[in-house]
Amino acid sequence: MFKIVLDAGHGRNTPGKRCLKSLDPAETREWVLNARICDKMERLLANYSGYELLRADDRTGATDVALKARTDAANRWGADLYLSVHHNAGLGGRNGGGPEVYVYTSPSAKTVEYQKIIHDCFVERAGKFGNRANEMPRKNLHVCRETHMPSVLIECGFMDSPGDVPLILSESFAYKAAQGLTEALVQIGGLKKVKEETSMAECKFTDISGHYGEKQIREVFEMGIMNGVDETHFEPDKPVTRAQAAIIARNVVRYITGK
Ligand SMILES: [Zn+2]
Repeated sequence: MFKIVLDAGHGRNTPGKRCLKSLDPAETREWVLNARICDKMERLLANYSGYELLRADDRTGATDVALKARTDAANRWGADLYLSVHHNAGLGGRNGGGPEVYVYTSPSAKTVEYQKIIHDCFVERAGKFGNRANEMPRKNLHVCRETHMPSVLIECGFMDSPGDVPLILSESFAYKAAQGLTEALVQIGGLKKVKEETSMAECKFTDISGHYGEKQIREVFEMGIMNGVDETHFEPDKPVTRAQAAIIARNVVRYITGK
């Protein structure tokens, strides 16, 4: 059994950790972006066997779990891999950005191998963007230093880059990032596919193109909140029944709270 710790960085109310207001008036919190990717990864991983998963953050986002508590939990549990998901800052609204995949300053050979797989799978799905000179740096980070197992921290993009912000805010980016990172875990842990993707399947609707609700339809589908009437049809102008409304409401709550 391959034991994975998944760690959405920070908490919903961690000071400072948010998108730059001039680029995102809603100042979307970093934890929201981190957790959105982790939640999607969990749903994608549900299609595989051969692993156990522990979330090191507070899924509700209410608490910013201390770094020591996160790494202690991973060490106690005897995890095989620690993956921490973050979004970056430091550009202050200047151009630039892109992903960075970190390991400790003196990593094990296995950690370096995992770093490359995670980087390559992420870029394969989420695409090449930004201008990072080194997308696979080494740094003295707590979650990489204090863990007894290979530990990798990914900064998915910059919350203060005019190029990255619209990208990292989009539901489709979060989905592709989750796909790439999940594929890395499948490769690293040798996980076996047990069922085809259902709610997380790629949107293949042929009847929404140009519709005023196209963007939102794609998003709620990718979030697992609404399905089509079949794989290729959404029927965007058809009414919703009371039962369907109840299911949608339940799915929204699950999406937000994880429960
Ligand atoms: Zn962070």
